[in-house]
Amino acid sequence: MKLLSTNGFIIYAKKMNEADLLLSYITEDYGKITCFANNARKSKKRFLGKLEPAMLTNIKFYEKPGMTLDILYEVDLIEDYKNLRKDINIYLFLTKLVEISRILCQERDNNKNIFYLIRNIFKSLNKLETEPAAGRQAISVNSVLLKYEIYFISNLLKFTGIYPNFSNCINCSESNLYNAFDFNLKKGGVICKSCGEDKNNGFGYSEIKKLPVNFINLSNLMIESDLSIINKLAVKDETLTDCSIFLRDFLSFHTGKRLKSFETI
Ligand SMILES: [Zn+2]
Repeated sequence: MKLLSTNGFIIYAKKMNEADLLLSYITEDYGKITCFANNARKSKKRFLGKLEPAMLTNIKFYEKPGMTLDILYEVDLIEDYKNLRKDINIYLFLTKLVEISRILCQERDNNKNIFYLIRNIFKSLNKLETEPAAGRQAISVNSVLLKYEIYFISNLLKFTGIYPNFSNCINCSESNLYNAFDFNLKKGGVICKSCGEDKNNGFGYSEIKKLPVNFINLSNLMIESDLSIINKLAVKDETLTDCSIFLRDFLSFHTGKRLKSFETI
């Protein structure tokens, strides 16, 4: 057995029995890993207070050849983004982020960008002033969270290789010059008018969606910019909400799973 060490964020925790836990992490060096933490709920020194969401920890784990589950040995706290667990709206955003990561990221598919994407979002949200400072307007937490949600999902789709094709019809390759094409959820790309209306293509009514206004521009900007630009971006909440709903529908259709974290309110 090899003892490995890396930094990571918890994205899933499940009680296995009295004291054991099954944990999934997005790590810096190994992508998503799932490990078994023996006696985790009783072992104060090795794990207590270090298995919360929105904590950057260094984890040491044993890798057993031929086994799918690693064994978590020890956890050390590096950075605690504790403000994310204090504000209910930020916490709800966090549940979306971890659920989507768990569903989209494959075990041991190492892409450091996903780890850095999550770290940048946590860092930035942890600094967010939720109370208005003297002489300044209060920042709308909901607007920030909506932007971050679209930022997170768009970038994660890019890093996992399933960012939709918005530039050409997926059926006939016609260029989507004016961003006017509808979207085919099943095929994961835009579809031109004539292909969409052609009965021979057999597209179901429910698989074709209108894209929210400016969605393509917004999503492309999200994958080309860093968070400092996104923070300054002014977009109406209505537009952001429409984009968020579209991304939720796309993710559900693509993964075949209901996203429970989107159903909390
Ligand atoms: Zn076409």
